[in-house]
Amino acid sequence: MKDKFIITIHDVNGIKQYTLKQIVKRYILYFASFILFFVFTSTAVIYFLTKEVSQLSAKKEKLQSQFIQMTKENIALKKSIEQKNSELKQITEKLKNIEEMIGIRPEEEKDLSHRINQLSLTTAQIYHMFKNIPNGSPLKKTVITSRFGYRKHPVNGQRDFHPGVDLRAKWGTPVYSTARGIVEYAGKKGNYGKLIIIQHNYGFKTLYGHLSKIKVKMGDFVEKGQLIGYSGNTGLINGPHLHYEVRYLQRPLNPVNFIKWKKLDYKKIFTRERHVKWESLIKAVTANLQTVPEQQLSVKAHLYQGN
Ligand SMILES: [Zn+2]
Repeated sequence: MKDKFIITIHDVNGIKQYTLKQIVKRYILYFASFILFFVFTSTAVIYFLTKEVSQLSAKKEKLQSQFIQMTKENIALKKSIEQKNSELKQITEKLKNIEEMIGIRPEEEKDLSHRINQLSLTTAQIYHMFKNIPNGSPLKKTVITSRFGYRKHPVNGQRDFHPGVDLRAKWGTPVYSTARGIVEYAGKKGNYGKLIIIQHNYGFKTLYGHLSKIKVKMGDFVEKGQLIGYSGNTGLINGPHLHYEVRYLQRPLNPVNFIKWKKLDYKKIFTRERHVKWESLIKAVTANLQTVPEQQLSVKAHLYQGN
């Protein structure tokens, strides 16, 4: 009975017994335990994998949302960079326009004054420039009593910008034009008192203030060194003197540079007065000198034909 396996079945008909060999019983046991093991392992694996998949998909979702966020930020940054670039471009353009308007050289022409200093002008060019651009003093004797720039106003004591120089002049001292030009204004004007404004070539103007007498009229052509009036003490002033201004494209420049400007060292002003576009000015002078003889020729030819 040792190797026998007995199955006993009870039913209405009585008791029946079946015997199986011990080896079969063992196989059944193995099979059952294998099935159990398989079911257990599969369940564990499936559980593990499911967990892993859900973790991965959570990670994926997180990364996706991060990616979307970064893309959005990237687009916003790009937009802001583009905007900043266009703003910068506009500012640069505006700055250049302003510089051109007030006659300051753009930065790229930094070595301009050096280049201009290398330029040698012909006698004709120098002669032409010293006729047309303010130079020398409007008085026979020159003593500066108040400088160009910020100062304490001699009458009201407030800090203000002095757009010219004050030259010592007794009442009635003759005043001369410092370059040829057209009289733009001759008359009374606020703090200036009796004032003459002369419009010169190449964007220059000179102003002569606090005069006692004016000898020219608006629209008159005046020569370099011509008597235009007499000094005085009209306007906001604490004693007689001549107020003298040099302007270039409406911007007041330091008249001292122009008063000291001499034919012999004509180049000095190119480096001293950097607000003037000397290079283009010399180009204009050259062009003027070349066109004048042609015009004279054509007038002559016209007259000849008339005869
Ligand atoms: Zn003054």
